[in-house]
Amino acid sequence: MNRIIDLDEKNLMITMEGGTTLSQLLEALEKQGKLFFPIHPGDEGAEVGGMVATNAGGTRAVKHGIMRNHVKAVEIVLATGEILHLGGKLLKNNMGYDLMQLVMGSEGTLGVITEVTLRLYGKSEFSNTMLVSFQSRREASDAVPKVLQSGITPLACEYMDRELTLASAKDLGLVWPAKKGSVDLMFIVDGVNEDNLYENCGKIVDICGQYGAVDSVVAESAKEQKDLLAVRSNCYVPYKSKVADITDIAVPPSAVPDFFEDVRKIGEKYDNPIVSLGHIADGNMHNFLMNRDGKLPENYEDMKKEIYQTAIRYGGTITAEHGTGKTRTDYMSLQFSPKELEIMRSIKKAFDPNGILNPGTIFHETAG
Ligand SMILES: Cc1cc2nc3c(=O)[nH]c(=O)nc-3n(C[C@H](O)[C@H](O)[C@H](O)COP(=O)(O)OP(=O)(O)OC[C@H]3O[C@@H](n4cnc5c(N)ncnc54)[C@H](O)[C@@H]3O)c2cc1C
Repeated sequence: MNRIIDLDEKNLMITMEGGTTLSQLLEALEKQGKLFFPIHPGDEGAEVGGMVATNAGGTRAVKHGIMRNHVKAVEIVLATGEILHLGGKLLKNNMGYDLMQLVMGSEGTLGVITEVTLRLYGKSEFSNTMLVSFQSRREASDAVPKVLQSGITPLACEYMDRELTLASAKDLGLVWPAKKGSVDLMFIVDGVNEDNLYENCGKIVDICGQYGAVDSVVAESAKEQKDLLAVRSNCYVPYKSKVADITDIAVPPSAVPDFFEDVRKIGEKYDNPIVSLGHIADGNMHNFLMNRDGKLPENYEDMKKEIYQTAIRYGGTITAEHGTGKTRTDYMSLQFSPKELEIMRSIKKAFDPNGILNPGTIFHETAG
C-alpha cells in the first residue's frame, strides 16, 4: 500500500496510501519541483501511516510544527473492518468532534491508517546550518527565546552537550568544528534569498553573543552542512551500550534552563552522569540515563520517576515525540487524572471494542 494517489497542486495537498515511505513522498515532490513537505523525523524509511500513528515531529518542528499540524485527511480501518474517512481537503472544518486528531499519535491502537492526505507548502530554496557555542547550558537555553523573539524562526534549533558531539564525530571519522565552550546550539536557518539567509544567520550570532556565546561556525559548503547534521543524528550511536534509557520529556520552553539544572542535580543525587541533547526551542530534551557496569543502576526507577515528576511540575510531558508505546504505560497515571484516563479508555473501547489492536500499547490492559 505505497501508491501516491494524487498530488494536488491547486490545493497544495498530496494523498497517498498508508505504506508510502517518507523517501517516496520526498521523491515525488522532488520530481514535481515546487512543493515541499516539512516534517522529517530522521528516518526516510518511515511510512506516512506510521508518521501519523506516531505523530512524528523531528528537528524542523520549531518552524513547521509536527505531523498533526499538516494532516488534512485519513482513511482508517477499524478492528471491526469498518472504514472511516476523517477530515478532507479543507483548511477550515469545525463540524462535530475532530476524530481525525485522535488518530494522530494513537500508535496503532485505534485502527489501521490506510490513506493519508498531507498539506504541502511552497519550497524555500535557501537554507544553512550553523553552530553557536556557549560555556553553559543556561546561557544557551536563555539565548533561544531571544532568537525567536527577534522574528527569526529557524527551521531547527538543536541543543547538544559537547561530550555527545565529540563522541559522535569521532565515531563517524569527522572533526567537530566547534572548539570553544562546552555546549552547542545548532541552527538550521532559511531565508527568502541568499542575502536574507546570511542576514538571519548574522542576527542569530549577534543575539547569542549578548547571552554569552563564545564562538560560532557557519557551514560553508553542502558537505559541511551534511557533516554537522550527520554528527547530530549519530549522537546516540556511541552511547548505545552505555545508555539505560533516553527520556523524551518536553517542558514549556521557558522552563528549560531550570529543568536542565534540576536534571543535573537529580543525576548527581543518583550518581548518574546524565548527558543531554534535544530540540531545545520546542522544550523537548532527550536526557541519556546511564547504565552502571552494563546494568541498570540501583534506584534507577526512582531516578527516572523523579525526573518525570519534575517535568510534570513544570507543566511538562513525559513524552514529546517518542510516544507512550509499551515502555511508558506505567507512567500514564503520573501525568493524567483518573477522569482523563477513563475518557481515554472509553475512546479506545469505542474504536476497538475487543481490544485487538496493539494490545499493551498506551494502556497495559486491553479494552473489551
Ligand atoms: C533514526 C530515527 C530517527 C528518528 N527521529 C525522530 C525525531 O527526531 N522525531 C520524531 O518524532 N520521531 C523520530 N523518529 C521516529 C519516527 O517518527 C517513527 O519511527 C516513524 O515516524 C514511524 O513510522 P514507521 O513507519 O517507521 O512506523 P513503525 O515504527 O512501523 O510503527 C510505529 C507505531 O505506529 C503504528 N503504525 C505504523 N503504521 C501504521 C498504520 N499504517 N496504521 C496504524 N498504525 C500504524 C505501529 O503499530 C507502531 O505502534 C525517528 C526514527 C528513527 C528510526
